[in-house]
Amino acid sequence: MNFAPSESRYESSAFRRCGRSGLQLPIIALGLWHNFGGADDFVGARAILLRAFDLGITHFDLANNYGPPPGSAEELFGKVLKTDLAAWRDEIVVSTKAGYRMWPGPYGEWGSRKSLLASLDQSLRRMNLDYVDIFYSHRPDPDTPLEETVGALVHAVRSGKALYAGLSNYPADMTRRAAALLATEAVPLLIHQARYNLLDRWIEGGLADALLDVGAGCIAFSPLAQGLLTDRYLGGIAEDSRAGKNRGFLNPGSITEDAMRRVRALNAIARRRGQSLACLALSWILSRPAVTSVLVGASRISQLEDNLEAASAPGFSEDELREIDAALQPS
Ligand code: NDP
Repeated sequence: MNFAPSESRYESSAFRRCGRSGLQLPIIALGLWHNFGGADDFVGARAILLRAFDLGITHFDLANNYGPPPGSAEELFGKVLKTDLAAWRDEIVVSTKAGYRMWPGPYGEWGSRKSLLASLDQSLRRMNLDYVDIFYSHRPDPDTPLEETVGALVHAVRSGKALYAGLSNYPADMTRRAAALLATEAVPLLIHQARYNLLDRWIEGGLADALLDVGAGCIAFSPLAQGLLTDRYLGGIAEDSRAGKNRGFLNPGSITEDAMRRVRALNAIARRRGQSLACLALSWILSRPAVTSVLVGASRISQLEDNLEAASAPGFSEDELREIDAALQPS
């Protein structure tokens, strides 16, 4: 189990400053929502993590409830950090979140100070870490004053248990308010994590502008629409795919003919550009002005390597962008 990372790991990777902060993030980060839980193959998961680090991916994204079972992705990541990556902790950005249901009772979810700070302590214990780099409020809580949730993020940073504060899934108006509250405490909003991909462009309705205005970064989750924007489903639903396993939020019913029509049209554009559909989907997001980075998932090393190609993909001409928009129109 003696891991020594590649000396050339930063040669092909690209970094961008996260909003107006001092923190640079790799334009491609790896998320551990799927494929890294206690029910998954530890050897394969460890291999993906180490290959990612070898390829210059320094940002690993978790949440309290990633698994299954909930918490087990943080445990797995903590194990790999301890046995393989401990010497490189200062080269790694670890993010985690609290907000979705994690333990029974009223404190196991949402955005109270009680819930967020207890969850952060649990995450640190599971990962065997003194601090995480980014701590997120995972979702807005309609019943907790925003001041309380923001206060918990401020406390997490001031106590040294997190270096930076982030929001996830917050709409534009709440993001602006939260950023203003954080700014009064001199704890800037570092980043917002939102679903953003060619099939779901909701952040263009106001959130992207808000992030540019407040100087926060934007990391796009599910940039491949959980695998839909890849060659995974072009030939049907494979048993070993996320939809085939039917374990998460992508199920066979969500792979509609209308979605596949758009996916096939996008795939034709990608082929003509000489790249994979995944690569086109990622490089399109990375070309949007508000976006700092994309947060991909991977069930095997070859997917990660394919996704990394997006870092050196050619830009889009105006004609290509129009063609992509046309391919996305509903029939
Ligand atoms: P993606 O959209 O990148 O989907 C990942 C899946 O797509 C993989 O598991 C794999 O599916 C398939 N895939 C990836 N690359 C390729 C490729 N090159 N060729 C073919 N198939 C490929 O992201 P996720 O939905 O996994 O989300 C990424 C991360 O975002 C999560 O791990 C998590 O960290 C974060 N997230 C945050 C949320 C939030 O609320 N803040 C919500 C959801 C995610 P298969 O397994 O079928 O092989």
